[in-house]
Amino acid sequence: MSKKSENIVEDCSKYIMNTYARGEETPVLVSGKGCRVKGSNGNQYLDFTSGIAVQNIGHSHPKYIEKVKKQLDELVHCSNLFYNANQVTLAKKLVQLSGLEGKAFFCNSGAEANEAMIKLARLYGSESGRYEIICMKNSFHGRTMGTLSATGQSKVQKGYDPLLLGFSFAEFNNLASVKELITDKTIAVLLEPVQGEGGVLPATPEFMEGVRALCDEHNLLMLCDEVQCGMGRTGKWFGWQNYSVAPDAFSLAKALAGGIPMGAMIASKKFADVFVPGSHASTFGGGALASAAALAVIEAIEDDKLLDNANKMSELFMTGLQQFADKYDQVLEIRGSGLLIGMAVEEGYAKKIVDELCFGGLLACVAGPNVVRFLPPLSLKEKELEEALDMIDETLEIVFEPEDAE
Ligand SMILES: *Cc1c(COP(=O)(O)O)cnc(C)c1O
Repeated sequence: MSKKSENIVEDCSKYIMNTYARGEETPVLVSGKGCRVKGSNGNQYLDFTSGIAVQNIGHSHPKYIEKVKKQLDELVHCSNLFYNANQVTLAKKLVQLSGLEGKAFFCNSGAEANEAMIKLARLYGSESGRYEIICMKNSFHGRTMGTLSATGQSKVQKGYDPLLLGFSFAEFNNLASVKELITDKTIAVLLEPVQGEGGVLPATPEFMEGVRALCDEHNLLMLCDEVQCGMGRTGKWFGWQNYSVAPDAFSLAKALAGGIPMGAMIASKKFADVFVPGSHASTFGGGALASAAALAVIEAIEDDKLLDNANKMSELFMTGLQQFADKYDQVLEIRGSGLLIGMAVEEGYAKKIVDELCFGGLLACVAGPNVVRFLPPLSLKEKELEEALDMIDETLEIVFEPEDAE
């Protein structure tokens, strides 16, 4: 490792709070182009993390850079005391893409977008005294007190008692367990169409349709957390569009503005006017720069036909990975949606595989305890995918059959 990156690793442990498990060998990244990033050690990596589902259009997309630079010269921020055209254009575009005829609220992160959904549901429910939200076990919704209380993983909640009241937890993909939790205080059901952090688990069509039907029957809001699976990640604009039903509201963040922090909530017509001046707000929300960036992301996805490409690459990727499931007993299952793909492995292997992949030049990440998660840019090229599959094959051989791989 070069002297320079040594200093950064050392200073990081000295000055940055220890909330991520980076190690001595973790690269210091300095630049990126498309699917590739460069480390300060001079190494090149294929980036199959996309900054955790953020760089959906790839790193340093030329038109994105051009539009963001232009906006920087004009106006970065003016607050929501005034109009800014980019914000309105973006809202119109997102609402059109959703087909919900609703309205948008802008904020700055996934957690905030989910907070906004939780607050919208509670405010709507306040008239009838309903406030409980049924969430899913194994879910992930963020790190604020509200969203961690809605997250169905004890490791996220540990040590933060007392948690916010009013959340109950059903089994994901088990409709009966949702039904059981409905009380006269229930106002909403919150779920990820594909559980990302929990281990890349797509909702079944029966589950999504069943939740929709339960929500209609009991006058509940169906809320979808699209922070990870939105913005083309699953091969549709929004993950819920892979199903025959629509939510009442959904959240976006991660890929929305291509790496400039931005979150959004889109609510359908029926719930779009629940918030009024004073009930919710955000200083940075929908700023001119972030909105221009998000518009550039949407344009790149459209112009470069990235949804089609994601679907095409998804099929090739899944087929390629399936061969490893056939070849190695330790690879249990390949699953996912679009380019949100998980390789479930036997206990104790996921982190080892991710570390070894990084060493070999492919960046991936862990989801849940035993899943290697791949999130390449939607602009992934076939040649890059083939390169990655070769690296994965070599790595699995090293990790699973160390004595043969000498
Ligand atoms: C990443 C993520 C969040 C939290 O987003 P932040 O921007 O880190 O607050 C919420 N929900 C899901 C599904 C996510 O993947």
